[in-house]
Amino acid sequence: MMSRQGLSRLFHWSGLNALSPLGESGQYVRILAYHRIVDDHADFPFDEDLVSASRDEFDKQLRFVKANFTVVPLGELDAAIQQDKPDERLCVLTFDDGFDDFYSNAFPLLKAHDLPATLFVATDLIGSKEIIWFDWVVKMLKENQGRLLSVNNGEFHEVVAKDTPRRMLDYLKAVPDHTRIETIGAIERAFGCAQPADGHPGSRMMTWPMLQEMSLDGMEIGSHTCSHPLLRRLDHDSLMHELLESKRCIERNLHVECRSFAYPVGGSSGFSRELMKSVADAGYLYACDYRGGVNYRHKLDRYALRRIHVERYVDYPYFCSRLCYPKLFSYFR
Ligand SMILES: [Zn+2]
Repeated sequence: MMSRQGLSRLFHWSGLNALSPLGESGQYVRILAYHRIVDDHADFPFDEDLVSASRDEFDKQLRFVKANFTVVPLGELDAAIQQDKPDERLCVLTFDDGFDDFYSNAFPLLKAHDLPATLFVATDLIGSKEIIWFDWVVKMLKENQGRLLSVNNGEFHEVVAKDTPRRMLDYLKAVPDHTRIETIGAIERAFGCAQPADGHPGSRMMTWPMLQEMSLDGMEIGSHTCSHPLLRRLDHDSLMHELLESKRCIERNLHVECRSFAYPVGGSSGFSRELMKSVADAGYLYACDYRGGVNYRHKLDRYALRRIHVERYVDYPYFCSRLCYPKLFSYFR
């Protein structure tokens, strides 16, 4: 069977992508999911799986998107759909977490192409130098390869290897939130690590002045909770605090309505039907999950919006083919 890469090259070089308006056209809303735009991620001390593209790759992707789609901020999706131009192919660009490489690397390119994006930020971390918990865990483990790590009475017990960070993050996503926090403390004690007081330039969040500038320049700022916890592992009061306080905080600082939300740590462990109801109760109009796929424009599942992931392994033909034929390529994930 042909690989998705092989098929995407065939579509790209044969010109089938240019014909896609005749096929999978305007019936879908494509929502792209990015995390970080970083040029050089060899020897990256943090989670390299969060690097979506380099600046050059992102620039190329934006050119393609601009030439083939109508890009809107997520918060304006209903208005765009109501305009009812069935041939218009709607696309939303989203960025999770709020790392400051968005400001230095992505924002200038978006501005140059005059394209909006929707950013999801964890409000407690805005302006703070604290390294976000999952990056901190990866950094500690990368620096202590070859050492034995045994935490939570041996529940996680192994000699730290190259793939230990991935397994540890999966473990931390499966335990109650207080256990996640305690485990991170246990790793710090085991390896004698402490978060550097000045943080680290490779994993830093944006500041409110940056967000204010970008909000005035057409970027939408949505919520990604206050502290980026696993929402399903929280009790109801803590959950509502994360949803309501992050929304208020964005509205207070930016003087615009915060309509959009993205579940931290998406996928089946990240959200549920009850959680979707809580997000609606908190007053959001849209919520993005991290499950892959596209959305039917006339049947939006607005609290479980699917996204097309852009990851560092996504080459240009695959990026273009997947955007043009999202349904077909979704069978390859
Ligand atoms: Zn996130």
